[in-house]
Amino acid sequence: DAGARELIARLVGDRPGAWDLAGEIPSAVLRELGREGLLCAQVPKSCAGLGYGSERNGELTAYVGSLCSSLRSVMTSQGMAAWTIQRLADAGQREALLPRLTGGQLAAVAFSEPEAGSDLSAIRTEIVPNGDTVVVDGHKVWATAATYADLILVFGRYGDGAGVVAVPADTPGVRVEKVADPLGCRAAGHASVRLDSVRLPRSTLLGGGGQPLPLLVTTALAYGRMSVAWGCVGILRACLDAVGAHARTRRQSGRPLGGHQLVVRHLAELLAAEQIATRVSEHASRCWDTGSPEQVTATVLAKHVSAGHAVKGAATAVQVLASAGTTDGHVVARAYRDAKLMEIIEGSSEICQLILGQHALTR
Ligand code: FAD
Repeated sequence: DAGARELIARLVGDRPGAWDLAGEIPSAVLRELGREGLLCAQVPKSCAGLGYGSERNGELTAYVGSLCSSLRSVMTSQGMAAWTIQRLADAGQREALLPRLTGGQLAAVAFSEPEAGSDLSAIRTEIVPNGDTVVVDGHKVWATAATYADLILVFGRYGDGAGVVAVPADTPGVRVEKVADPLGCRAAGHASVRLDSVRLPRSTLLGGGGQPLPLLVTTALAYGRMSVAWGCVGILRACLDAVGAHARTRRQSGRPLGGHQLVVRHLAELLAAEQIATRVSEHASRCWDTGSPEQVTATVLAKHVSAGHAVKGAATAVQVLASAGTTDGHVVARAYRDAKLMEIIEGSSEICQLILGQHALTR
């Protein structure tokens, strides 16, 4: 993927620190990457996508994550939206929607609500059929990339089951309110979304609605978890590079930092963390690419392990760079703040542990 990486490197340049401080990525950058299909590279060629497998998309995600976790978060949301459409929409909806997502339009996924975080069974958003339309009422929170999105996938109750509706962000009754000053991934466009009597054609309800809510959220989350796992690999690679360069050049007590054994131990731990995160993510992606029955567990494991290592690894990186790494926008300072969020999203560490623990009990 040398061409893709070259384009990404050219569009990103040395700007992630400035984007972090400004809380925004220029939309021209997002749209160009979107038009190249790189924000959701797993969309099949038959639907105007690049047709990447999970492992290839994962390595691309790690590359983007090593440069800018905000951009990687936008990529995760776009990929999650595309995957949800791929899995839940009917053929006509897939043909209509997926080429938009590989053609420069941007998407967000909204399931969380003020009272529905880890427990999504508490979702209150209502999608109500009315003739050949549906009417959506609800309040979503923390939807990544929503400030940039043309299309927001909204999860809600529908009859006795649930549904996902593809809501154009400019529909009357939709209000997108940016989250002010998030801890990390500050330029990822997190927003709450208010939906007041939003009327849409019934054809926007993916797969006709009425599916079980756990099926809907698990479909979206599975892709999100895989993407976050690889994003954490990227965070660790960025930290490893920054720490290696600093330990070779910064001198204290008459020698480079890398000449002090306790500093080298930090490097060894960081390398081990990057390798562990890479291997669990590779394993999970290969389960996706081969349709292995282990896929669900391997994905949760990859997300949980990679996020935990990214948090520890980023803290180690700040420790080694010390004052040099503690200015806002610096690559390791960003890594430190961004990594923490990876333990919260797409199923917190505790929720992942519950799933893995249950698997261990019953396998
Ligand atoms: P809570 O559910 O209130 O949990 C609080 C704490 O209690 C956590 O430590 C949790 O692990 C623990 N806990 C909760 N229940 C249990 C339990 N049963 N057993 C053990 N521990 C438990 N949402 C979207 O819909 N779309 C997005 O794109 C999106 N992006 C996000 C990006 C960021 C940066 C953040 C911070 C959030 C995002 N979210 C998004 C919301 C995210 O999915 C939720 O924050 C997450 O599910 C946790 O919910 P909560 O914050 O309400 O915490």
